[in-house]
Amino acid sequence: MGQSTIFLGMDPGKKLRLLSKLAKFECEREPDLGSCIYNASTPRGKKPILKTMLSTYCDKNCDYCVFRRDRNSTPRLFIKPEDLARGFMELYTKGKVQGLFLSSGIFGHPEVTMEKLIETAEILRKRYNYRGYIHLKLMPGVSLQTLEEAVKLADRVSMNIEAPNEEKLKRIAKGKSLRKEIIPNIAQVSRILENYEGKSHITQVMVGVSDESDEEILKSSEYLYRKLRLNRVYYSAFFPVRETPLENKPPESKKREHRLYQADFLIRDYGFSWKDLPFENGRLPEDKDPKEAWAEGNMHLFPVEINRADYDLLIKVPGIGKETAKEIIRRRLRGALKTPEDLKGIRNLKKILNYVILMGRFYGSKNCNV
Ligand code: SF4
Repeated sequence: MGQSTIFLGMDPGKKLRLLSKLAKFECEREPDLGSCIYNASTPRGKKPILKTMLSTYCDKNCDYCVFRRDRNSTPRLFIKPEDLARGFMELYTKGKVQGLFLSSGIFGHPEVTMEKLIETAEILRKRYNYRGYIHLKLMPGVSLQTLEEAVKLADRVSMNIEAPNEEKLKRIAKGKSLRKEIIPNIAQVSRILENYEGKSHITQVMVGVSDESDEEILKSSEYLYRKLRLNRVYYSAFFPVRETPLENKPPESKKREHRLYQADFLIRDYGFSWKDLPFENGRLPEDKDPKEAWAEGNMHLFPVEINRADYDLLIKVPGIGKETAKEIIRRRLRGALKTPEDLKGIRNLKKILNYVILMGRFYGSKNCNV
């Protein structure tokens, strides 16, 4: 078993196309670069981004990954930083892309891989004077100095935690450690980012791969947001890759991923803690929005008087998001909200009326504590 080079001598343009295709976990031999460009939300707004790999060689053997060391059918190739930078700039000057998301398998020591990623970004910034968006994937276990260099060059950096705790990570990626490498590196990046504005760092956790519960995932997300000031946690439903140890494991449902995103919003933007969330045996109910499920378990807190509730309370009402809460407060300033007519045009009004009263009157259809 092992990794063999099968693309020696390939021209750099073709190599970049294939690496970009592989970055999407696809292994076509005649890739179309257009399909590797996707619209991503960046701190600078939505942009067409080229996601590509510097290398598909990897010395690690994560059970779920298409690039794992022992997967013989993965095409292995490496592109030189100057070739990758040149290929990207050709696309950029033609107006096809406005940003780069650069990742890589880990070949040799993580520092070696990270140096090559940094070198690519450096060529773009210095030789080509490129001022556009760069997202650099960080390799776990690199030094503080290397992290500083990466943050300096990139708009966004990311290091994936993949699993919510050490025990769950060890089940799927024996060569990685949250405790020894990933969390200390994320904490270092947080401190480095204190000296910058407009840059962000994010992570990703795989859902349904390590027999983790939603409770474990959201507990770790809260820790990452509150203690390590991470900007975003992304959730990725597991999908089995053939010729890996997990090839027969069933894929995770997109519904579960969606519920985790909803619960994540509650923790990140709505002042909830993972402890508030309505878990059943560690899982969020799949048939219900988590805020609604939370409200149904806490009906003693409802209905709230919409004319008196402050912003923090309004955003806890099912159906009321941040913009709706602001709109309600704006309307209140013009006069008391007395009937549903005064809330005309507010999104989710039918749902909201089940949890509020207007000048003491209830207009909902659910049995509330009135
Ligand atoms: S280190 Fe990254 S690229 Fe390598 S096997 Fe693990 S997940 Fe895949």
